[in-house]
Amino acid sequence: MFWCRRVNLPTGKVLGGGSTINALIMNRGHRRNYDEWASLGATGWSFNEVFHYFLKLEDNQDPQFASNGWHGTNGPVTINRQDYQPEVKRAITESALGLGYRFVDVNGPTQHGFYDFLAILRNGQRCSTAKAYLAPSENRTNLDIVARAMVTKILLENKRAIGVEVDFGGLRHRVTANREVILSAGAINTAQLLMLSGIGPLTELDRFRIPLVADLPVGKNLQEHPAGFLAFELSDSIVPVHKRLFDEENISLYIKERKGPLAYSSAISLLAFLSNNSTGEMYDLTDHELYFLEIPAIYTKLRVGLTPEAYQQVFGPYEKKPILVCMSQILHPKSRGTVRLRTINPYDFPDIDPNYMDDPQDVKDVVEGLKTCIKILTAPPMAKVGAKMFTTAFPGCDRFVDDIEMFIQCNVKAAVMSVSHPAGTAKMGQPHDPTTVVDPELRVKSISSLRVIDASVMPTIIWGNTNIPTIMIAEKASDMIKGSITCEQRHR
Ligand SMILES: Cc1cc2nc3c(=O)[nH]c(=O)nc-3n(C[C@H](O)[C@H](O)[C@H](O)COP(=O)(O)OP(=O)(O)OC[C@H]3O[C@@H](n4cnc5c(N)ncnc54)[C@H](O)[C@@H]3O)c2cc1C
Repeated sequence: MFWCRRVNLPTGKVLGGGSTINALIMNRGHRRNYDEWASLGATGWSFNEVFHYFLKLEDNQDPQFASNGWHGTNGPVTINRQDYQPEVKRAITESALGLGYRFVDVNGPTQHGFYDFLAILRNGQRCSTAKAYLAPSENRTNLDIVARAMVTKILLENKRAIGVEVDFGGLRHRVTANREVILSAGAINTAQLLMLSGIGPLTELDRFRIPLVADLPVGKNLQEHPAGFLAFELSDSIVPVHKRLFDEENISLYIKERKGPLAYSSAISLLAFLSNNSTGEMYDLTDHELYFLEIPAIYTKLRVGLTPEAYQQVFGPYEKKPILVCMSQILHPKSRGTVRLRTINPYDFPDIDPNYMDDPQDVKDVVEGLKTCIKILTAPPMAKVGAKMFTTAFPGCDRFVDDIEMFIQCNVKAAVMSVSHPAGTAKMGQPHDPTTVVDPELRVKSISSLRVIDASVMPTIIWGNTNIPTIMIAEKASDMIKGSITCEQRHR
């Protein structure tokens, strides 16, 4: 009964894509992720080979992080520590330290620990990829940025990409390419566009009578980071986050100095990358990422996609109170989903089946994270902010209130949510591997002049947040493209 839910999966339909609407969290995942990519056939993508690109993209302005040897300082993407210190954050910090957890730079030698996270912020404002990369280049004569243009198809001739078909201003246009077409529509829309253009699984294209150009496993291998959460009420002395955001003094502080709650990422106080059965001890491996968030109750309804009944039953009694949510996101999902076509209309959403929690280990990894949430948020320092776990339960979960393991598991199944990290639908690897769509140079197999450069190419999803890793992929790809241009082409 729990599993037939529709989950919201927002993506950024805007210049900069997800980086223009995301939670600004900066991290690279675990160094092992890239070594795994290389071992799966993504030659050239081991951590030591991609580290240079992580440094290259980064303009780290925090003196402590910038000087620790793990960060870049001259790149286009500005990274800062957040200056705002809400009361709840201080209590969680005290609680975590008291239990023996350590604060680390998760981009450094170990990922395991609490992370007073770096945010993708420039002067108190979001530093999206549009701001970091497009704005400084917008006057170049070899660049046209066309907003509100919808690509409907990749134009292919004799297995060569020659351009794209675009809807713009109510008209259909053909935009042709001199060298190659780069597809960066994100893991959902890249898969959709490839299939609409005849590149995808034969059976899938046959269903819609789309002429086959290349039979490739596009849309398979969809990976995401599902999450579960537990909610806690806070003392009435804590000003709820939505009130802080609309407070005149805070607005004025933001306008004058770009500081305070309005320069703060999605009300996330802290993050922690921990392992199952976690204690303060450090491990090389991590299983889940915990988010400590002060959010208005209604946010959960919208973001998680709860039914009105489920929302009312759990959040109804707490709607007017300040709330703290602890979210546990698994880091290495074992379940694999799919993106398939629903129709041949490019404006229709494709059929996205994330297949969350298909593998029991995924449920376990979320549940173990939530158990750690309880340990931290019920420790004595949390009494200062009056943190108390909700006593309400999702429909069907009330019968487990005396069995915490079953209760959490039931909550996770009832309210599993997406963190909008879709990846893997055009898997990179060796051309002879039947599960891959692009080669290690990100060229679509058996098609010339077509590359995919976005989160779709990740062979396995990284353990963390996907924005910076996707930018790294693009930085490395730009060198590959430059490297592939011959002298003759350069001077043409
Ligand atoms: C709500 C939210 C919160 C997130 N929080 C974080 C976070 O805090 N930290 C983090 O690291 N990551 C976060 N992420 C994930 C991160 O933003 C993404 O991993 C990253 O943006 C993926 O980049 P991409 O290039 O693969 O795709 P996208 O960013 O989705 O970019 C695809 C672009 O292609 C455009 N497009 C798609 N189809 C077409 C078409 N047919 N024609 C023309 N244009 C098209 C889209 O409009 C978009 O601009 C979050 C994402 C979301 C949505």
